[in-house]
Amino acid sequence: MSIHIKHITPAIHARFEGVIPDMEIDNVSIDSRSLQNNSGTLFFALKGQNRDGHNFIPALTEKGVRNFVVSHIPEQAQGAANFFVVPDVLKALQDFAVYYRGLFSFPVIAITGSSGKTIVKEWLNFLLSPDYNIIRSPKSYNSQVGVPLSVIGINQKHNFGIFEAGISTVGEMEKLEPIIRPAIGVLTNIGQAHDEGFTGRAQKIAEKLKIFKNTEVIILQKSDDVQALLNPGSKTFTWSFEEGADVKIGLKKQSGSTVIKASYLSGFEITIPFTDEASIENAITCLMVLLYMGYTPEVIGTRLSALYPVELRLQVKNGNNNCTIIDDSYNSDYQSLKIALDFLEQHKTHKKTTVILSDIFQSGFETDELYRKVARLLSAHNISRVIGIGRTISKKLAEFHDFYPYKTTKQFLSRLNENTFEDETILIKGARNFRFEEIVVLLEEKTHETVLEINLNAIVHNLNYYKSKLKPETRVMAMVKAFGYGSGSYEIAKILAHHKIDYLGVAFADEGIALRHAGITLPIIVMNPENSAFAAMAAYNLEPEIYSAKELQDFIAMARQRNLNNYPIHIKLDTGMHRLGFMEHEVDELIQLLQNNNLVAVKSIFSHLSSSDVPEYRDFTLKQIALFDKISSSIIEKLNIKPIRHILNTSGVYNYPEAQFDMVRLGIGIYGVGNDAFERQQLQTVGTLKTTILQIKDIDPGEGVGYSRRYITQQKTKIATLPIGYADGIPRAWGRKGGYVVINNQKAEITGTISMDMMMVNVTGIDCKEGDIAIIFGAAPTVVEIAQALETIPYEVLTSISQRVKRIFYKE
Ligand SMILES: *Cc1c(COP(=O)(O)O)cnc(C)c1O
Repeated sequence: MSIHIKHITPAIHARFEGVIPDMEIDNVSIDSRSLQNNSGTLFFALKGQNRDGHNFIPALTEKGVRNFVVSHIPEQAQGAANFFVVPDVLKALQDFAVYYRGLFSFPVIAITGSSGKTIVKEWLNFLLSPDYNIIRSPKSYNSQVGVPLSVIGINQKHNFGIFEAGISTVGEMEKLEPIIRPAIGVLTNIGQAHDEGFTGRAQKIAEKLKIFKNTEVIILQKSDDVQALLNPGSKTFTWSFEEGADVKIGLKKQSGSTVIKASYLSGFEITIPFTDEASIENAITCLMVLLYMGYTPEVIGTRLSALYPVELRLQVKNGNNNCTIIDDSYNSDYQSLKIALDFLEQHKTHKKTTVILSDIFQSGFETDELYRKVARLLSAHNISRVIGIGRTISKKLAEFHDFYPYKTTKQFLSRLNENTFEDETILIKGARNFRFEEIVVLLEEKTHETVLEINLNAIVHNLNYYKSKLKPETRVMAMVKAFGYGSGSYEIAKILAHHKIDYLGVAFADEGIALRHAGITLPIIVMNPENSAFAAMAAYNLEPEIYSAKELQDFIAMARQRNLNNYPIHIKLDTGMHRLGFMEHEVDELIQLLQNNNLVAVKSIFSHLSSSDVPEYRDFTLKQIALFDKISSSIIEKLNIKPIRHILNTSGVYNYPEAQFDMVRLGIGIYGVGNDAFERQQLQTVGTLKTTILQIKDIDPGEGVGYSRRYITQQKTKIATLPIGYADGIPRAWGRKGGYVVINNQKAEITGTISMDMMMVNVTGIDCKEGDIAIIFGAAPTVVEIAQALETIPYEVLTSISQRVKRIFYKE
């Protein structure tokens, strides 16, 4: 990209307030943390839920960034750079993308639908790449921000584009259409789900179809209700399993593959290496696009037979020797390298970082320029060591300060002992044909098959859901006690810190110390500080909850001994929970201790609601809130201080947002569990506990299964044994209370008693084999469902999952 800034003002309808009118920009950024060539950057100061790009402008001008698109010019930056002032920075980014797209005239495919977009995009890219230089959306960049950024990635070398478009409400597709300006429209599976943001299915479909307003064709599965919503003049190219479409499809499933018969031209058959419905449908969509583009059945057959599973997410795994592995071993292009490096930056657990990178294809840049850019990107992210695998990269990155070249993956693997991997975060990123999964397997810590998968996107979604109930200035403390409610404290703390929370809460000092060791710098409050841990808390900058005069005296004594000054403390009031805290009549003593004392400083005053989730106790809760307001106000007045006040937990935020004071303390909700049924619907599932089938056997009628013959088969029964038991934290009683697991989307009832490390489930009539995945909890059964069956609460189920179960964190 090379654009003179004089073109920008009209393109985005801005007012120019500049100091250097004669400049070119060569890249666009919305994220102050991942800049490339600073003087050539055009920075769009977007306002997100958690960040306002305007706040970073003064720092960016110091780094040499000279061009900013803003809604107002920050005072400290006045006169320091060029400003393009617009009413709405997001709209300006989209307008810029429209302008930029207009500079190129090659054909573009737009893909929309409810599911399958990213897979179809990746597959089309694979299928068409022998013939075109393709620009495509990185990962699933399909939003109001993602689409403009994807399109801005186009450069002179590209001669074909594939972009996906996703929407969450009406009015969005109209904005994306002129940015993508597609010639070919592809509609993937539209789904039955009723989506939030739409009044119904028809509205959702009608909105999606707007991306195809000007396409020469729309490729889709024949569907009367979709076609009724199309513009009358639209040309379609349809497929169906029935008669009546342009192409009738027949299927023949075999073991491990499916034959697709297409009634087109003189009729032909191709074979794809998949048997599941979704993959078959996505492959048919690709087949239709290739047919439309004029490919012969022979070429289509050869190329589709080589389709491969697409790994859509970056996975974080534990490696040997205390390493953390970020596994992105399935693709390598310049755009997604940027995303992966940003991800590495956010998730690195160690100071030392290694990137294992293959040759990069289809960047659209000249080879030399490409690797110059790659080297710059790696330096900007302070990567300690780079291992380059491939004939090109092994030569082109030779200048990088700590670089290890290998020609092939095989060569690297055969000489693995040349490199040690220890106490570092390793990003593994390679194009498919480099088979980097073999590297991952070698570096990965070997674990048993049971894992608790944690969806980090869901954590962010849930955090934002509760934030949407709060005033923008209200602070958020995230409770990560008890190992982040069983979901992993460090990783969760890290992602939350990145998404702007203000405080972390733990129960014990050692939990806080572990977070500090892992590099967390946010303020941390310790809810149950023990006397013996005071000194350690001071050493690690952990702030105590102070709940009694005795505790306060002890803490002050420690502070005096260590010459501390204004050490932050948090005063806990007991307003009715009757657990920890000062009662109203003890407050005078508290005030006396704090008056004229500068060893400690009251950072916050708080209390805890006992029944924020119990509607019957609304009056009681309101009394607690009123009492809190009264006592805390009087402390504030008498000490003449300005502490943060807070009383709400998750259900408090949901039921009593008017009592948010200055901060709230979110726990269970972030982990995807609401105490209220409607609230739950707004949340996304965070944890999925999975294992795999160890053995399957057929049992005759009248046989007993498991200890004490608790389950007697009534007929011929197929039993699967799973390597997970009560020692992993599965409540033993779940087996007797209607417990089940989900295997290949079907319920399999737990039979007999759950043993320490194993359990058996009834898989009669379920299509499954040894090695298949069994879901213990997640989307179904939910943690709430299990808790209800056992007459306990989801908190207990979540925090009971044993530490021997590996946690795997991923981001979509
Ligand atoms: C655990 C805890 C919370 C969070 O409660 P949730 O119901 O999980 O939101 C808030 N405040 C205190 C003092 C806690 O101990």
